[in-house]
Amino acid sequence: MSVRVRFAPSPTGRLHLGNARTAVVNWLFTRHAGGAFMLRIDDTDRERSRDEFTAAIKTDLAWLGIDWDEEAQQSVRLDQYADALDTLKAAGRAYACYETAEELDYKRKRQLARGKPPIYDRAALALSGDERKMFEAEGRKPHWRFKLDSGTVTWTDVVRGDVHYEADHLSDPVLVREDGVPLYTLTSVVDDIAFKMTHIIRGEDHVTNTVPQIQLFLALGGAVPAFAHLPLMVDADGKGLSKRLGSLSLEALRDDGLEPMAINSLLGRMGSSDAIEAAHDLKTLAAHFDLPAMGRASPRFDPIELDHLNARLLHGLSFAEAEPRLAALGLANTDEPFWLAVRGNLKRLRDAAAWWTVCRAPVAPTIEDAAFTAAAAGLLPPEPWGPETWRAWTKEVGAATGRKGRELFHPLRLALTGRGDGPELAALLPLIGRDRAAARLAGQTA
Ligand code: GLU
Repeated sequence: MSVRVRFAPSPTGRLHLGNARTAVVNWLFTRHAGGAFMLRIDDTDRERSRDEFTAAIKTDLAWLGIDWDEEAQQSVRLDQYADALDTLKAAGRAYACYETAEELDYKRKRQLARGKPPIYDRAALALSGDERKMFEAEGRKPHWRFKLDSGTVTWTDVVRGDVHYEADHLSDPVLVREDGVPLYTLTSVVDDIAFKMTHIIRGEDHVTNTVPQIQLFLALGGAVPAFAHLPLMVDADGKGLSKRLGSLSLEALRDDGLEPMAINSLLGRMGSSDAIEAAHDLKTLAAHFDLPAMGRASPRFDPIELDHLNARLLHGLSFAEAEPRLAALGLANTDEPFWLAVRGNLKRLRDAAAWWTVCRAPVAPTIEDAAFTAAAAGLLPPEPWGPETWRAWTKEVGAATGRKGRELFHPLRLALTGRGDGPELAALLPLIGRDRAAARLAGQTA
């Protein structure tokens, strides 16, 4: 049986690190196994769903490098959900309810006030035919609930191990609203059966949905897939990320200049017993992916870790890969020596622009001691310059001026680049060239 998984976002917002993690983990799992990945758009709630979010989700997934073999959209599958409801009605597993939202709310409050769990009391099951007719005559439309079987629901979760849950602790879930809109509990299972999903990998916020959904798989004659519920990410203080998710949208992270593989490397491994490494590509990440290695503890999201992964990826990026991307940033005609000189110093790819300017465009030098930099300028050797030039030159400058260490190097760096830190000057100096170096040491913008 070949593996089939789905990522099923509701298009009610943009992807953020939390839901992107579900996508990445599903993708890595199925690519590791050689299976199929479906993108399913859960858009039956037409008031909250927006086509532009569907488009944005696809853009964000494509940016990460997550591709999908199949696509499904729930809003065009309403007939299938209606058929499933009919099947459940015929089997006595779906029943009509007429309570309004206010009535249900009142019931819940009364139960809570009496110290009882707010579980739906199944009053609608006891309605007589006449009572039902009376409600309908009043203009009430029924919503439909799934009648849970009493008893323990058990599954072996790929991440959580054996899970036991008492169905009696849950309300019979609503499957179809009074306006006829089918809800997630039903639509998800209908689709998981129709598209023959073998594994449902999602956040642990869905654990309690799994209980009625396992019963639904059985009631609809489907094979129950394997489940894996990932613990939700928390921040450094152990708090949920929900409030920060706006700034952790993939769009915001992309605008911040992060490499998609930094995000994939983090999302594909966080919470796992395997160390997080900067993987160059998704294929490498997939080859080593291990779902059971995902732990039960909530993984902590640390933005500094993402920055480190990003820097490590840039450090290892070849010039062949970097060149078109530098060109897209407006840096035309970059060359390999330039890239090799600066890549180890970059936090974001776009930081290369400042160093391209240092090598190829006029820069205002910072002069701390004009006599010293003028003396250093006088000792610049003739070109051609190579990787040894910096060492040989600074040795002479040191001997002539009696300076060493930071006192020697720092003013030279400030004069040559206009900045206090940056890539190794041994690599940068030949790229700056003698004319610019001499002029900058003399205090001129060059
Ligand atoms: N649309 C659901 C969500 O975004 C899908 C959950 C699932 O994977 O079953 O939470």
